[in-house]
Amino acid sequence: MFDSHVATLLDVSVSLVNALTDGARRGKPYSAPRDGDLAGAVASALPAGGVGADEVEPTQAAHLSRTAQRMREVFEAVDEERVDDAADLVNALLSAGGARPQLDRVPGEPWQVHFHGTDDSLAVGWSAGCATALALAIGSDLAGRLGVCRAPRCDRVYVDGSRNAVRQFCSTACQSRVKAAAFRARKVEG
Ligand SMILES: [Zn+2]
Repeated sequence: MFDSHVATLLDVSVSLVNALTDGARRGKPYSAPRDGDLAGAVASALPAGGVGADEVEPTQAAHLSRTAQRMREVFEAVDEERVDDAADLVNALLSAGGARPQLDRVPGEPWQVHFHGTDDSLAVGWSAGCATALALAIGSDLAGRLGVCRAPRCDRVYVDGSRNAVRQFCSTACQSRVKAAAFRARKVEG
């Protein structure tokens, strides 16, 4: 569906938004980690084997937290079918991070197109990469696959990777929660 590099960056976008923005998660209020806890949250939102919490500087963590907030607005805009707004938000993110493609190669592997920013710092690099992946999603027929969980008291985001684009929830936990509530409602009515 998505190229694997783009799919990875979309997954990172989802985990940054879900870890670093306030709201509600699986039926409970969610407060994003702050101050001393922010670096650890950033490190665990990035792909495994990347950076440790002690390698994430506070300014870098704060930058990624701001990026996550702006990416949440992109998911919300797409979810509410305000695609023009989503496009404006992504264009602003692309230009702020100076996103650009670059050919990179791991020794022994073929050249691959990766996305970089104005510098290769952790925050600018990931912000530019995630913004580019969101741009590629919104600029394709897969735009509608960015979503916000439909379950009550949850606003975590997701990318719908299902074949028929039927996903509505951030997690199986929320899906089960909604199913159980519908089942109880039917029992009361019956
Ligand atoms: Zn949810």
